[in-house]
Amino acid sequence: MPNRETVHRVCPFCEATCGLSIEVEGDAIVSVRGDKEDPFSRGFLCPKAYGLKELHHDPDRLRRPVRRTASGWEEISWEEAYREIGERIGRIRREHGNDAVGFYTGNPVVHDLGALLYRPLLERALGTRNSFNSSAIDTLPKIVQTGLMFGRPFPLGVPVPDIDRTDYLLVIGANPVVSHGSLMTMPDAPGRLKAVRARGGKLVVVDPRRTETARIADEHVFIRPGGDAAFLFGMLHALFEEDRVDLGAASGLVNGLDEVRGVVEGFAPEAVAEFSGVPAETTRRLAREIAAAESAACYGRLGTCVQEFGTLASWGCDLVNVLTGNLDRPGGVMFTTPAAPVDAALPQSKGYEIGRWHSRVSGQPEVDGKVPSSTMAEEMLTPGPGQVRAMLLLMTNPVCSAANSRQLDEAFAQLEFLVAVDFYINETTRHAHVILPTPAPSEHAGYEVGLYLLSVRNVAKWSWPAVEPGEGVPDSWQVLSRLGAELMGLRGMSEQEVDDLVLGQYVAGSLAALQERWPGLTAGEVTARLESRVGPERLVELLLRVGPYGDGFGRVPDGLTLAKLREAPSGLDLGPLQPRLPEVLNTTSGKVELAPKTMTGDVARLRARMEERAGEMVLIGRRELRYSNSFMHNLPALVKGPEKCTLHISPLDAERIGLDTGQVARVFSRVGHVEARVEVTDDLMPGVVSLPHGWGHGVSGTRMRVANDHPGVNANVLTDDRAYDVASGTAVLMGTPVKVTPAGE
Ligand code: SF4
Repeated sequence: MPNRETVHRVCPFCEATCGLSIEVEGDAIVSVRGDKEDPFSRGFLCPKAYGLKELHHDPDRLRRPVRRTASGWEEISWEEAYREIGERIGRIRREHGNDAVGFYTGNPVVHDLGALLYRPLLERALGTRNSFNSSAIDTLPKIVQTGLMFGRPFPLGVPVPDIDRTDYLLVIGANPVVSHGSLMTMPDAPGRLKAVRARGGKLVVVDPRRTETARIADEHVFIRPGGDAAFLFGMLHALFEEDRVDLGAASGLVNGLDEVRGVVEGFAPEAVAEFSGVPAETTRRLAREIAAAESAACYGRLGTCVQEFGTLASWGCDLVNVLTGNLDRPGGVMFTTPAAPVDAALPQSKGYEIGRWHSRVSGQPEVDGKVPSSTMAEEMLTPGPGQVRAMLLLMTNPVCSAANSRQLDEAFAQLEFLVAVDFYINETTRHAHVILPTPAPSEHAGYEVGLYLLSVRNVAKWSWPAVEPGEGVPDSWQVLSRLGAELMGLRGMSEQEVDDLVLGQYVAGSLAALQERWPGLTAGEVTARLESRVGPERLVELLLRVGPYGDGFGRVPDGLTLAKLREAPSGLDLGPLQPRLPEVLNTTSGKVELAPKTMTGDVARLRARMEERAGEMVLIGRRELRYSNSFMHNLPALVKGPEKCTLHISPLDAERIGLDTGQVARVFSRVGHVEARVEVTDDLMPGVVSLPHGWGHGVSGTRMRVANDHPGVNANVLTDDRAYDVASGTAVLMGTPVKVTPAGE
């Protein structure tokens, strides 16, 4: 009988990076527990972690490439799959140009080291302007706002709440007790939030729903979906009016303070109260409290992003932080100092620009090399030069996750060629012609290169594969690397040769960026002294050794190396966040740009919207503890129990419409309708209904048996790709106008 052993790694299912102790016997996962020795998560786990075992053993998970035929899916060899993809994409690019092939990256990539570090190779190989990603569904406003204010590409300019030291946390449009933090890497969100209160601090939640976070807060304030920017401008107005602006560490480092004062002049708390739904006295009191707190952080997430004024709301959050002196101060919002600064490998230039090109059909601006995902369907469906005729999907299911999913479904179905790198045949990949599976998260090594850029403490941890992938099963980096080589016409090159090219790019970028830290370090020395020979391990070794804690290839004898990190199976604590604003700022002025034109130019739209009569009922989403991605609905332990995909509605609205808990309601929007079982709850403010996201299974042609037995309804049948935040092009997923009736009517 094989021996049991315990493997340590990070949980791959959300941004929190909890440490896992996984008991393994042969190629079977026996148990998944929280790693008590992990200095960051200290044994904390949420129920999703158990999904690691079920995902590993899931019989629906693809293990070999498949091709769609008239009679169903057939397994093909890896070589055949690469050749077919290379030839068909090559033909489309020759006939219609590079932009005829779109590329879409889903968020599981951030948890897959190989996919994350080799995706740039695939991007270069495709050379398309039609590049989309999941951040362009739910994060684009934050990307635009922090890029323009701090001058850094995402996520390097995103300040995170210093949650372990703050005295006051204002949470807007976020539910960290359930999401476990987003753009704020922090295991044990419930414990960390409760600790704010336990040490005498205050937690305030502003949300249209009394969320799980609101339940443990000192105060919950209802706000109308889409009212966040107006509310935040109201707070800023109060700060100016009551002479409470204090820039703290940002003094002398900002441009545009007077412009901000001018912008918020017309947003007195009394003037925005009706539109935002927040009483003026509450707005004024919160402004006073946050200004008076010893330290404070204003944290906005999905609710502030995927709405009509997402960029303005994101801007409002960070303006509150800057104007109350909480930017770059302990207990405020700060910038992480990551051990593996992958940013070093990015092109280095001063300043930040958006709109270097615009989408073909609706003219949406490019951001960080991507165009908004709200444009994806129109780019596929609108004929003409540059039309997207083929797509490459990397670990994603946009038919469930993006706005106007019926239209997206039609768009994917009519493509000339669709390739998916994914281990499930889901609602989107069912349209693929070829699917290349990657190993399960339990089967690959990892380092959270992306998530540790947003960590509330500086940490580092190496994740070991719990189980080695089977014989002949390539890792994600090998799939992407081979695919990239195929698309670049480098089929004859060996894996090592392609990998040396990839390493060369990272070395060149890192050394150019880190010259001051490591004078004299050359590419030749680095390449010769790396102990790993190939793959993402070699890239992580590079980044760690040239990073701020690194050994500089022998220059700092006790500095960090990959070998040392591996000797600490539960990870390393590198200390609390440190002030580093001047180092982070990369604007052309070298200052925080408080009033970029992209935002100031969009304020008139908000003013105009405030003049309109509201009154309509709107739909918002809701995050659930047991799921972060739609594929998790195929894991039996996570979907068991009462139905989760219900329509939440306030008692007032339920009575007015004639609905009660357990009945079925029909919900209509401009683009579609769904039927869902009703749950009446006073957690929701009147005028707002809520459906969770990522559901809508049971579609023919998918191979997800558990999910298909628990289909739920797809909320994105209702969300509208033509309703978007103008500054960023992000589709509105929170605040879709809807009509609700009993199902029979
Ligand atoms: S909070 Fe849950 S899903 Fe997220 S990393 Fe921790 S255990 Fe995994």
